[in-house]
Amino acid sequence: MSMTTDVTIPMAQNWLTEFCKAVIEIEDYLNELDAAVGDGEHGSNLSNGAQALLESFKGPQSKSLGEFFESVGMTIINSVGGASGAIYGTLFLRLSDIAASRATASLNTMSQAFESALEGIMELGRAKPGDKTLVDALNPAVISLIASVKNSDDLQAAFAKAHHAAELGCAKTAQMEARKGRGSYQGERSIGHVDPGATSMTALFKTLSNSIDLFSENRD
Ligand code: ADP
Ligand code: MG
Repeated sequence: MSMTTDVTIPMAQNWLTEFCKAVIEIEDYLNELDAAVGDGEHGSNLSNGAQALLESFKGPQSKSLGEFFESVGMTIINSVGGASGAIYGTLFLRLSDIAASRATASLNTMSQAFESALEGIMELGRAKPGDKTLVDALNPAVISLIASVKNSDDLQAAFAKAHHAAELGCAKTAQMEARKGRGSYQGERSIGHVDPGATSMTALFKTLSNSIDLFSENRD
């Protein structure tokens, strides 16, 4: 199998397309998780965004990764309700700022972009690691990406490890008590269920990892 060294616009579009399909597939499950810790509409919120994104991908292809991620972020902000709309919107606007006019992004750029996204989300929502939010999936993924840059991992290995880290981080949220967002109203009752936002964030890294695998195979 060949080594893919950069993220491209078609790959990013495939990634987000697969993420949208995954969100629509697990919509009911995300709603159930959110009903245990919050107001029961995280799946419906994200699913609205997924439909809007899939529609937007029918338009002309973006000329840069920055333009693509900006349009994703704006579509999410305009279509997703709840805290998660602003949070996922911020994530993609930060990816847009770092990717800027590039048509391709290296592992180093993607790592910096996700690090900036994490900072933006933590500034916006004031959640810290351990507060039982999607930060508990994103933070370990970012730590893993930074380590992969140091190790000179290829993109496939780096994204597979980041997905694994997000998944582990998400699993750990089951034992946490929600302190941020509507989950916090449930207090101790939130213990025993994984956080819905950490679950959707894990799907974001899973589809990123799958897309890089697909595009690496296609280059053989
Ligand atoms: P809402 O919290 O407005 O009902 P959603 O149900 O769509 O929005 O999303 C809930 C998810 O959003 C939570 O599971 C959590 O992961 C994430 N979240 C909520 N508030 C915050 C915050 N302040 N910082 C980071 N993530 C948050
Ligand atoms: Mg909710």
